[in-house]
Amino acid sequence: MATAQVPTKSAFPFLDLKAQFSSIREEVTESVTRVLESQHFILGPEVSAFENEVGRFLDSKFSIGCASGSDALLLGLMALGIAPGDEVITTPFTFVASAGSIARIGAVPVFVDIDPNIYNLDPNQLEDAVTAKTKAIMPVHLFGLPAEMDPIMEVANRRKIPVIEDAAQAIGSEYRNRKVGTIGVIGCFSFFPSKNLGGAGDGGLITTNDPVIAAHIRLLRVHGARNKYEYEALGINSRLDAMQAAILRVKMRYLESWTNDRRRNAGRYRSLVADHGLEDRIRLPREPEHCRHVFNQFTVQVEARDHLRQHLQENGIPSEIYYPYPLHLQRAFKNLGYKPGSMPHSEKVSAQVLSLPIFSEMTAGQQEMVISAVASFFAKN
Ligand SMILES: *Cc1c(COP(=O)(O)O)cnc(C)c1O
Repeated sequence: MATAQVPTKSAFPFLDLKAQFSSIREEVTESVTRVLESQHFILGPEVSAFENEVGRFLDSKFSIGCASGSDALLLGLMALGIAPGDEVITTPFTFVASAGSIARIGAVPVFVDIDPNIYNLDPNQLEDAVTAKTKAIMPVHLFGLPAEMDPIMEVANRRKIPVIEDAAQAIGSEYRNRKVGTIGVIGCFSFFPSKNLGGAGDGGLITTNDPVIAAHIRLLRVHGARNKYEYEALGINSRLDAMQAAILRVKMRYLESWTNDRRRNAGRYRSLVADHGLEDRIRLPREPEHCRHVFNQFTVQVEARDHLRQHLQENGIPSEIYYPYPLHLQRAFKNLGYKPGSMPHSEKVSAQVLSLPIFSEMTAGQQEMVISAVASFFAKN
């Protein structure tokens, strides 16, 4: 299914991190210099300050920095005591780390298909997947749109199963006016450079309102050490660097404004699609009234996805496919025994999704170029 590579240079990048950097260059440079002057690189005051600031933004009682979003998921599952043989329910239409973190600690990812309108776990299929071995439910707020948390929490609370939210793509996203990552017991965030709040490398965060879980995660991220060289639990090495924290503190101040720019861009795409009469040709992302989408991706569905993508490429328009294959059919998860056809919505959507550029600094003119190119494809096809 790999599309032929057409060597056309893009007119602009899919995500313009250089444009973002040039708008905050002095503050970022100053913060990096401050850390270098301190020569304090692991955890410490910069990390604590960032944890407090991001915790206030998310309205989470405890926020714990770690080395990546993948580690946040791993630490979250470890803190819940998930053990080999336990089952954890999640979606197959997501980045590999969601299910990967479950399998990594020897537990069994149990996939529940998505609602293709929102790309997130279908709550109507959730309870059928619950067994006596289900020890956690991990919804993913894919592309920046919250999963349908009310019905998920209803099943989880009734069956007494903790919910760990994969909010890696969704910082600032809201479900019924609550920030995602604070609705379940544990929330996990990523500061990978392409996320809405991206560092200058890897970074992650765990949120919780439970003081016991928070204290446990603080141990687990430093090898399980309570005091130096006294190990209370078997942990890992997963800390946020002071340098990342210092840069993220600068970026935190702009996050809401950048998110609003992404939301404005989503609105512009909707108008452009309507102006070009393309509503019946491409399926636009939904934003239910009780949700605030933060558009880490603007993902549409098109039947002729691969042909459209090639046409865009030939016209210098960047696009990406998130994700071309659902996880239940990946070789890495072959042992789980899923067959093609077992997750029909995820399989169909994987063949039809196309993410269009939606970075904050994108101009109206660039967006017009994108939709004009989409229109010229449909004029011919
Ligand atoms: C990015 C991402 C992760 C992992 O985050 P890293 O910081 O790259 O380890 C996990 N889940 C989802 C849905 C993601 O998009």
